[in-house]
Amino acid sequence: DYGTAPESAGEALAWLEARGGIAGNYVDGTWGPLRADIDVMNPATGERLAGLTKSTPDEVATAVAAARKAQPKWAKLGGHKRAKFLYAIARLVQKHARLLSVMETLDNGKPIREARDVDIPLVARHFYYHAGIAQLMDDEMRDREALGVCGQIIPWNFPLLMLAWKIAPAIAAGNTVVLKPAEFTSLTAMVFAEICTEAGLPKGVVNIVTGDGDTGAALVTSDVDKIAFTGSTGVGRAIRAATAGTGKSLTLELGGKSPYIVFEDADMDSAIEGLVDAIFFNQGQVCCAGSRLLVQEGIADDFHRRLIERMSKLRIGNPLDKCIDVGAIVDPVQLDRIKTLMETGGAEGTVHQPCPAPEGCYYPPTLVTGLHGSSMLMQEEIFGPVLVSTTFRTPAEAVQVANDTRYGLAASVWSENINLALDIAPKLVAGVVWINGANMFDAAAGFGGVRESGFGREGGWEGMLAYTKPTGKAVTIKPATKHL
Ligand code: NAD
Repeated sequence: DYGTAPESAGEALAWLEARGGIAGNYVDGTWGPLRADIDVMNPATGERLAGLTKSTPDEVATAVAAARKAQPKWAKLGGHKRAKFLYAIARLVQKHARLLSVMETLDNGKPIREARDVDIPLVARHFYYHAGIAQLMDDEMRDREALGVCGQIIPWNFPLLMLAWKIAPAIAAGNTVVLKPAEFTSLTAMVFAEICTEAGLPKGVVNIVTGDGDTGAALVTSDVDKIAFTGSTGVGRAIRAATAGTGKSLTLELGGKSPYIVFEDADMDSAIEGLVDAIFFNQGQVCCAGSRLLVQEGIADDFHRRLIERMSKLRIGNPLDKCIDVGAIVDPVQLDRIKTLMETGGAEGTVHQPCPAPEGCYYPPTLVTGLHGSSMLMQEEIFGPVLVSTTFRTPAEAVQVANDTRYGLAASVWSENINLALDIAPKLVAGVVWINGANMFDAAAGFGGVRESGFGREGGWEGMLAYTKPTGKAVTIKPATKHL
């Protein structure tokens, strides 16, 4: 207890109760089927929040058919008229921000401060941005058109934000969607469905099917024109295999092991604060988490000492408490995964855990020093609050160690010498590079990876292109030669 009143869960719990305590499908503007097949838990308390429908392949097909029926009319409406609905959704997200933030924290375990100040504002921003883009489409994208029906599958770490990243560009471009949230965190998608109704969005433009991986697999093989997936590299690989040769478009946003490179001339206080954000934000359950620290040899001891001191001050516990920095891990299965990786690999280095975790589904912020580059903890994505550290001597060595991974999502470079930072940035194999910062997101900046982190970009023009195809055909005329 850090002496602050926790945010009240009352409104969110009453919202669930008023809807029978079941989260399920939203298809063609109406609810159903609603069955309590899966338990939805609050990871911070272990209490059951709701039941969740596990949709069958037939139920997925019904949702896809509704999206298919609605799509031509939605596309024909034109960008200006579609934008009106995206603006309305953005405003309603702001209006219901408190309910959405508390629901997200209850369902996912993330600190309310993050849900309230990061996730939900970025959701609104994403819809505002894509409303603007939709308005440009009629003029600036005359030569492109919507793909049709998009199947979208998202993970549990940023439930509503990942939904926004998927739905906003897709519907802005004139597609209709069937989205499957992660089975651990489907509740804010339910509130979002009601927002679509409140915004007057035409029926069938946004459809939501709930369920686990089986439901996701059924969506992949259904009659959709595109699959947009964010999640683990293993599932991404299976989806790529399942869509190969089908003609379906595909974008994959997968895992990462992103390097955080600190040169000896960096502003050390800022680099330490940035690192705390990079790795402990959302309990480290972030695809682009700065999970590998590369620190220049001359400052390594001092940097580690000051980092451990800073970590000792982190506040971990009840995520509804507004003063909490580190909340609960999303699910006991994920917690076990982190523990197993640490039990297997921790002994290869020195483990520092200066801030003990409370009982329950929590894992303490962790630093592991003294690891070899090839060690398991250096190479595997842990997807938890675990930072691994190594040192380098020269810029060339920093680049070589940073790129020694099968992933390529994000990278941070810290130096007061901008020429050095700008020289390093293009040499890093990563889709996103931040200089003297971390976790800097904007709807206008394309986000995505290379190598086993996936392909395709979300956000910006690049993200819009991924939801459209060229309208035209290459019509080639062979001139008649008889008059020459
Ligand atoms: P996951 O791959 O297990 O699940 C993601 C989604 O896919 C869920 O909705 C799940 O139900 C569904 N799914 C599971 N099996 C499926 C199958 N066979 N076919 C179709 N859908 C299936 O991943 P997770 O544990 O939910 O999320 C963690 C992973 O996601 C991490 O590896 C992380 O790096 C990655 N991630 C990447 C990004 C990014 O933008 N690159 C963002 C967030 C998370």
